[in-house]
Amino acid sequence: MTLTLLKFGGSSVGSAPALRRAAAIATSELPLGGVVVVSALKGTTDRLLEAALAAGAGDPASARARAEAIRAHHAEVADELGLSSAVEEAWGPLLHRLDALLEGMSLFGGASPRAKDELLSVGESLSARLVAALFVQSGLPARFRDAREALRTDGRHGAARPHLAATRRAAQVWKEDLDRGAVLVTQGFIAQGPDGATTTLGRGGSDTSATLLGEALKAAEVQIWTDVDGVLSADPSLVPSARPLSRLSQAEAAALSGFGAKVLHADSLAPASRSGFRLIVANTLKAGGARTEVLATRDAEGEGPVSVAYKEGLTLLRWPLDAKLPEVLRGVQELEEAGALRYGFISGPEGHALALRAEGSALAVLARLEEEGAEAESGWAVVALVGEGLRTDPRPALEALAGLKAPSGALLGSGGVSVAFLTREQSLPALIPALHARCVSDLAPIA
Ligand code: ASP
Ligand code: MG
Repeated sequence: MTLTLLKFGGSSVGSAPALRRAAAIATSELPLGGVVVVSALKGTTDRLLEAALAAGAGDPASARARAEAIRAHHAEVADELGLSSAVEEAWGPLLHRLDALLEGMSLFGGASPRAKDELLSVGESLSARLVAALFVQSGLPARFRDAREALRTDGRHGAARPHLAATRRAAQVWKEDLDRGAVLVTQGFIAQGPDGATTTLGRGGSDTSATLLGEALKAAEVQIWTDVDGVLSADPSLVPSARPLSRLSQAEAAALSGFGAKVLHADSLAPASRSGFRLIVANTLKAGGARTEVLATRDAEGEGPVSVAYKEGLTLLRWPLDAKLPEVLRGVQELEEAGALRYGFISGPEGHALALRAEGSALAVLARLEEEGAEAESGWAVVALVGEGLRTDPRPALEALAGLKAPSGALLGSGGVSVAFLTREQSLPALIPALHARCVSDLAPIA
């Protein structure tokens, strides 16, 4: 039997009309059953984090107010769908747990990463229960199954890494339902750690839940439903003429998400390339409209890049010339372990430099490395031109760069499907449209 898995993001389940569209999509895409992975209702995860922060900072009143806002919003959506009594029983314990966790965080004056993950899981659990109830109401043979039954990770709370073999084994408990043609609705973003506690896969991690479950259950196709027309040739907020791309290779999709394109979470591509299922990105608002298909391979259709991606807010960290590589690598490792994201690392005769994005505890590591002699400079961005054609001939990308004044800093790499370089953040608003016009927009015709 061929299995299809759908994932609906936060905006695709964010309101009653959006949820009705999701039900219609599931009805037409899953005539023989399948799996549906859902994010929390739009804005819920942010609100849960704010509540945890307020509780931990000794402001239980504001934490309670956020929890109440979450409850009220969910109740309103359920009411609009005529599902208030259908979800009451499943939602009660979840909302109760939310209050108890916040109370605990206020008492302790802080939230452990473990408790925070448990708190965050409430968002996806509320939405998965709601979607399951809606699907039943819509006549689908739907059933809620908890993602923690199937998805197993290590114990890194907040940024857990999948345990593939354990997930493959555990996911078999869903097989019987699936063989019977059920539509299983489950939570994205959350999983079970080695000690049985709830873990989360990092912000935006529901895409990765979907592809990991697709891999474990040997799905033939995974569809990511979002609020844009698939993957675009550039960020439409900087390039209004950006076009949807009908087909991408896995390497192109991985490079684009890795370099900042927002549609697919960067971690979600590895399961697709390991197991080879078809990956589709489609727009919930226009179910019949443009969609992007991510294929294991894609012939180079043009000669140049098909898309330009960028990530701003980066810090460029340079080590002193006499720093030894093992010492530099230790610093890089420490930063990554503290959650910093690496966008490029160059080590050569001119020294060692790392382009990274650091938040939270990574900032403390960064400060320490500065004290030890490294120089950190903020305000940098990475820009990447991406296309299969660049594998054999990077010239179109390099020529596009040649005439521009803005690029500065090192070229991060060529030879794969991307040519990437560092530039100052403030050059992006002019640079991205210029690059798109020069070498992206007249290529990659839509099939
Ligand atoms: N709800 C989580 C977040 O907002 C996971 C996701 O939506 O993918 O980050
Ligand atoms: Mg997302």
